[in-house]
Amino acid sequence: MKRLAAYTIVIWVALHAFGAPAATARRAADAQAPPQRTQLPSTDGKLNIIAFGAHPDDCDQRAGGTAAKYAALGHRVRFVAVTNGDAGHQTEGGGALAARRRAEAQEAGRRIGIEYVVLDNHDGELLPSLAVREQIIRQIRLWNADLVLAPRPNDYHPDHRYTGILVQDAAYMVVVPNIAPDTAALRKNPVFMYFEDGFQKPGPFNPDVAVSIDDVIEKKIDMMDAHVSQMYEWLPWVAGTLETVPKDPTGRRRWLGETRAGRPTPAVRATLVKWYGAEKGNAVRHAEAFEICEYGTRPDQAMIRKLFPFLPN
Ligand SMILES: [Zn+2]
Repeated sequence: MKRLAAYTIVIWVALHAFGAPAATARRAADAQAPPQRTQLPSTDGKLNIIAFGAHPDDCDQRAGGTAAKYAALGHRVRFVAVTNGDAGHQTEGGGALAARRRAEAQEAGRRIGIEYVVLDNHDGELLPSLAVREQIIRQIRLWNADLVLAPRPNDYHPDHRYTGILVQDAAYMVVVPNIAPDTAALRKNPVFMYFEDGFQKPGPFNPDVAVSIDDVIEKKIDMMDAHVSQMYEWLPWVAGTLETVPKDPTGRRRWLGETRAGRPTPAVRATLVKWYGAEKGNAVRHAEAFEICEYGTRPDQAMIRKLFPFLPN
């Protein structure tokens, strides 16, 4: 009897410690992507950067190069997709598409050395609700963010627009202990900045910082290349150019670089010149730019240099 009991315990431990039930539970937890307390207060001199996009691939296009530069210097970056992307395809949808896009996002993050979290809100149905605001407050607090990046709240896509609103709505609440009290409030409000966009009304994007990403442009394209369902299927289908996408992985990766790398606008060029000087600033081919949001900590020049350590002195 005693021996049988001992075997039973051994089998129980083996199953629960190493077997299928534990793995399944872990996968379920990953799928829900709860905020994890992964960051201690940054006493090691490294920055904690968090960026929010509506869909799994939005942050990549606006800040993938800058994120790669942070990661190369040992700073910690987390991209958060506020929806799971489950409406973003012409022939797929629902849970299967959400799972595919979560896997693509995690591969994209792996390629440049950052974390990628996908929140389980439906694509195309995002609203600036209290529940989602609290999800965002918790993400910013748990990352102990120094800098928060997000879209501006004017955009053709309601999910993009509401992501901008939701992050703005979190920009003060992250320091209020009685809001989302299950997650310790920050003692210091982070700096909040907007991604670049091309919308002119009610006001055009007004860059405060522009970062040369010439040294990491291939990494950024590699990151975007991980979003196969978007870059090579959904976005070209919506644009009516699906037949121009090369079929082989090497050809389509080259096509992506040729069609998606982008060039600085005149406003971004002027900001590059301001930070890099005329000679270097005018020579930059690829850049990402950011505008200070008025609702978080407002950085002075010295703080901007601290937050963007790859800007020249
Ligand atoms: Zn999007």
